[in-house]
Amino acid sequence: MYKPAVSVCGAVLVSLAMVACQGQPFWGTERASVEEWAGVVKVSTPDAFDRAVAAAQPGDQIILADGVWRDFDALFEAEGTADAPITLAAETPGAVILSGQSSLRLSGRHLVVSGLVFKDGYTPRSEVISFRKDAETLAFHSRVTNTVIDGYSNPTRAQRDLWVGLYGRNNVFDNNHLSGKQNAGPTLAVRLNTVESQENGHRIANNYFGPRPIFGSNGGETLRVGTSHFSLTQSNTIVENNFFDRCSGEVEIISNKAGGNIFRGNTFYASRGTLTLRHGNGTIVENNLFDGAGAPYTGGVRVINAQQTIRNNYFKDLTGNRFSGALVVMNGVPNSPINRYHQVDGAVIENNTFDNVAAIELGEGSDAERTAVPINSAFRQNIVVGKEGKDPFSLYDDMRGIGFADNIAGAMPPDALRAGFQVRPGVAQDASGDRLAATNGAGAAGEFGVARDATGVSWYPKPSEASPFDQSREIALSPGTDVLSDALSTAQAGDHYVLAPGAYHESKLITLDVPVTVRAAGDAPVVSFERPSLFVLTGNGALALDGMHVTGAAAPDGSGNAFISTSAVGGSGNHVLSLNNVRIEAFDVNRGFSVVSAAKGSFFDRIDVSGSAFEDISGIPFKLDQETDDYGIYNSEFLSISDSTFAQVGGPIASVYRGGRDESTFGPHVDVTGSTFTNIGGDGTPLMVLHGIQKGSFTGNTVTGANPIAVTLTTGLPVFTMTGNTVDGARREIFADTTDLRNRK
Ligand code: CA
Repeated sequence: MYKPAVSVCGAVLVSLAMVACQGQPFWGTERASVEEWAGVVKVSTPDAFDRAVAAAQPGDQIILADGVWRDFDALFEAEGTADAPITLAAETPGAVILSGQSSLRLSGRHLVVSGLVFKDGYTPRSEVISFRKDAETLAFHSRVTNTVIDGYSNPTRAQRDLWVGLYGRNNVFDNNHLSGKQNAGPTLAVRLNTVESQENGHRIANNYFGPRPIFGSNGGETLRVGTSHFSLTQSNTIVENNFFDRCSGEVEIISNKAGGNIFRGNTFYASRGTLTLRHGNGTIVENNLFDGAGAPYTGGVRVINAQQTIRNNYFKDLTGNRFSGALVVMNGVPNSPINRYHQVDGAVIENNTFDNVAAIELGEGSDAERTAVPINSAFRQNIVVGKEGKDPFSLYDDMRGIGFADNIAGAMPPDALRAGFQVRPGVAQDASGDRLAATNGAGAAGEFGVARDATGVSWYPKPSEASPFDQSREIALSPGTDVLSDALSTAQAGDHYVLAPGAYHESKLITLDVPVTVRAAGDAPVVSFERPSLFVLTGNGALALDGMHVTGAAAPDGSGNAFISTSAVGGSGNHVLSLNNVRIEAFDVNRGFSVVSAAKGSFFDRIDVSGSAFEDISGIPFKLDQETDDYGIYNSEFLSISDSTFAQVGGPIASVYRGGRDESTFGPHVDVTGSTFTNIGGDGTPLMVLHGIQKGSFTGNTVTGANPIAVTLTTGLPVFTMTGNTVDGARREIFADTTDLRNRK
């Protein structure tokens, strides 16, 4: 039998064995549960794995056979040595799938894990990969590499877990691919909750952090180091050369909550929010590339606490402001409790380049509580070029505690900063032509960030930026009974169902967990339905409807029908709904008939309505108000209505609720433009009820026979603009009654 020499296929097995040993008669042809020779054991059952782990000696390699390992509760507990680690590797990287209720725990010393894929399920534990067996038994000097966790989200959004929990000391998490976490809790967290996990010296490097969709409350961080409770403890974690691709879960891409960490050489691409130095002192942020690609709410670094250093970073095409500015220096709370905002003291911000950034916010968060301005700090030798050549600085308090010197600006900064800047509108490009060159000792120089392809694993595809509705199959349908429900029962992601003119009568619910488009081939088909809903979105369900009439006349004579509803049972991902050129009518068979009604625990990324008509609706057409616990959670990030008409609606036409004072989200957003509202509500029912929205607009609308929009401000700095509206035949800009709850104690 072929015996791989440890020096060739042993110690380097993790990364090279499948190359070095491919083509060899490595394990023979018989498929037993255990094959063993010279320190290499291949296992194909969990029991065999447990026996191999129990017997493992330094230098041994445990190989998981290719295939699907369902509900595999793997505990890799062993003691290797620095010279002879114990390895757990996939037979073929990418061909060992841990699915269902699987998880992996490492415990002991000098362990290496490689080549696994977690998908099609979620962890039954609090972590998918844990660097500990239990609270007392941790991993040290161990490594997880070349491993994938893809969409392994708990279907209950509010159910918290971590995909990776780093405990112990001197562990490495490198060249892994983590993408698509949809439930609560950071994707990866470094825990400091016992002494053995502090001053840990972990290294998190060359990983691909794929898209983290909008979570819709706090708890959507991609990476967290520490917690407020241990924030005055040193973590000494290095986070380097990772690619953060559209990591947009909440206002913190990274929440740094411990001291002595280094974030260097990472790329943040089109990611909403910032690398937030939320708690802890003495962290260094250098040589990173923050490339917003012009995407909404993209930011850079938010600075809080003492002795933070931000140097030689490149900030590019960032559109965010306030908590999501390219650079945000917060005001602190005097004698702050450990979980609030410690004063910025001794910050050094030097040799950075800000290139086409919307906002640099200084003294951000200044209010009756956050009155401690930055002190003993420096902002020097930076290049600052704002978006469209404008000055990006805003000062919200006294910034004399920051010494500004030797900076170059593209436009005149505010008076209070002027002495620290030379104004050179024509700062030059460097040799590459797409970056600004360091000039006269100011600005960033050298390499920044890391290329996407240099991170993660080569054998697993990185997600595209395609729309969920991009077509895969086109299926033509003809009128009849249950035509839609029968066809969509086998729907695949990206399907387009094309309806010939005529009547479509549906007697069944359509439960949809993939994105599909249903559109008219020509003259509008007429869709009717017998159940309280026609569509129920679960999982990753998304729906685009185009060019049809929908009548509620056949719906049951009971209250609370909704044409499109959601269910948190079976999971709620980030739903998307598009209604274009749709006519909705006769939704008045009983009271409370909605068009869209979101269940508690479900979430829409967006609801886009354009060119559509709504007539005779007894309830609230867009009912997005089921998260009433005041935890800062809500049902929809964006509701956008344009060029549409509403008539004879019980109303309000939309009800959106986001309660609580948490500051972790950018939404909800509600934008209504160019639409007509006639006879909405009665008995004082407002045109819309918008509670706790963060951004919105009501522009160019025509209203007849309706009561003003009810706006309640609960937290943050909400912006709701109203212009160009006509109400009962008269020009009127503001059509809202606003209640501000923000200063209550
Ligand atoms: Ca957070």
